[in-house]
Amino acid sequence: MDAARFPNLHVSQHPLVAHKLALLRDRATEPKKFRELVRELSWLLGYEAMADLTTQPITVETPLEPTAGVELEPKVGLVPVLRAGLGMVDAMLELMPSAEVWHIGLYRDERTLKPVEYYNKLPDAATVQVCLILDPMLATGGSSSATVDILKQWGAARVKQVSLIAAPEGVATLSAAHPDVDIHVAAVDRALNDRGYIVPGLGDAGDRQFGTFAGPSSEPGHDPADETAEVVRRLQRNLASEP
Ligand code: URA
Repeated sequence: MDAARFPNLHVSQHPLVAHKLALLRDRATEPKKFRELVRELSWLLGYEAMADLTTQPITVETPLEPTAGVELEPKVGLVPVLRAGLGMVDAMLELMPSAEVWHIGLYRDERTLKPVEYYNKLPDAATVQVCLILDPMLATGGSSSATVDILKQWGAARVKQVSLIAAPEGVATLSAAHPDVDIHVAAVDRALNDRGYIVPGLGDAGDRQFGTFAGPSSEPGHDPADETAEVVRRLQRNLASEP
């Protein structure tokens, strides 16, 4: 995709990220290894995503004398998109132990691909300034855009999206709705297929982390609902027609 069209899109160029992503995509990678890779990639992408966080000066006492140091200025909130985003939380908490974790439950209607909110217990006023939305797969961009709407309404001053893989359609949808949201990913793949899966992608990130392969939706032979395929075609027309 034409990255110049999306100045908010940051695709990691780190060789470790590329190496781990190839292992993650491999269909032979089992859930235990898959979870480890999600965690390692989240750590690396989180490190990059937080590179522009502001700091404020502090003084620290070394065993020998006082010296100048800094501490992070904004309070950070982690917002994993349930359920696949849960696997990204621990790595981010290792980087920022004082971050708050807020859960917003949205599921993707399998036919319309539209986000449906089922859980939101955010307090009235925002308790953090920067929010990181954690979702391994930025597919249609529908859930992410809806989550950003909720977080901005809550009062978060800045929102970033951290995903492992994005579809061009998802980048375009999220960027059009929220051009101020930085998107950090390991890769942007070719497209969405007519079931709303990213190709080549890695399959269903939730199923692969949690070993839940029984449902029909992630099986290659599963027939897409006409409605689903039409939603994908509409997103693809939007992507092609935007300047
Ligand atoms: N969610 C996933 O887990 N995988 C995709 O390819 C798209 C959405």
